[in-house]
Amino acid sequence: MIKTLDQLPAGILDVNAEDLYRYVENHTLVHITGQIKRPLFISILQHGDETTGWDAIKALLKNHEAQLPRSIYLLFGNVEAASKNLRQLDGQPDFNRCWPGLHRQKNTIAKKMAFITDMMAQIKPFASIDIHNNSGRNPHYAGINSLNGEFVNLASLFSETIIHFTSPDGIQSGAFAQFCPAVTIECGMSGTADGIEQTHTFLENLIRLASLKEIPGIAEHQQVLNIFSTVKIKPEISIGIQGETKKQVDFLINDDLDYLNFHMIEAGTVFGQTANDAIPMPFTVTDQIGHDITERYFEQTGNEVRLKQKVVPAMITQSIRAIRLDCLCYFMHPLSH
Ligand SMILES: [Zn+2]
Repeated sequence: MIKTLDQLPAGILDVNAEDLYRYVENHTLVHITGQIKRPLFISILQHGDETTGWDAIKALLKNHEAQLPRSIYLLFGNVEAASKNLRQLDGQPDFNRCWPGLHRQKNTIAKKMAFITDMMAQIKPFASIDIHNNSGRNPHYAGINSLNGEFVNLASLFSETIIHFTSPDGIQSGAFAQFCPAVTIECGMSGTADGIEQTHTFLENLIRLASLKEIPGIAEHQQVLNIFSTVKIKPEISIGIQGETKKQVDFLINDDLDYLNFHMIEAGTVFGQTANDAIPMPFTVTDQIGHDITERYFEQTGNEVRLKQKVVPAMITQSIRAIRLDCLCYFMHPLSH
């Protein structure tokens, strides 16, 4: 079903993400044994242009050439897309929507992911880490699907900024949350030095840690935010970014909107302008179970599209391709705990 290896191919630690396809396939799973046998599961490159995971893994493995303190299972995601520095290739599904969730999908990739999930459910890893990057400016943060203490502790080891979310369906950390503490970490823009270093440090801590039940000194500073809605742009509306897009489009998104990520923004904040009054609301906002709640959040005044109530946005991206493939952003509110 998938290719499994009990060591890394020789020479692989000397190459960048774009050359990995010469050594491994999509979904190659490598088991590297270490001193502590209960493994850490690490998933990288589910999105081919998010290379921080591979860079951090290289630093980790080079640091422990003789032996790792703990065994790891390393899953390579989309090395084909990585070779072209793309999130995914045309015709490929988003890998991080194909894991077993509410539904088990039938496509070939989903079957491979179900196979990996069932295999790891037997092994019960110490923890599962899925490493990603953002295409917009965001603080480095951790996403969890459960507010169970071990999940929060795991997330806290990476960042004080933690997001709790229960959708989208089919993500890796959601599938693994059924049998071990699982986290998605978002390490800023792909390949930036601070993201690689923070991820490397996080992995170094985890491969030595005896337990996630109690970690002294971290509980007081956590800020857990709850994602409650997703903002997409209607596919029939043509879009551009103010100051960048020269051609006439239906909706021009404000430049530098991604500076608002993780800040409380006020009602009245303008997200962009439509080309004329006849163009309908460009956004569709849906809640966690898919209900359309656009009217609660946005209104059109003349050509301007404005926010109707205050929210904390996350993952606003200025990449048209990312907006089309995924979404413009998510809205959150702080959880009291
Ligand atoms: Zn990603």
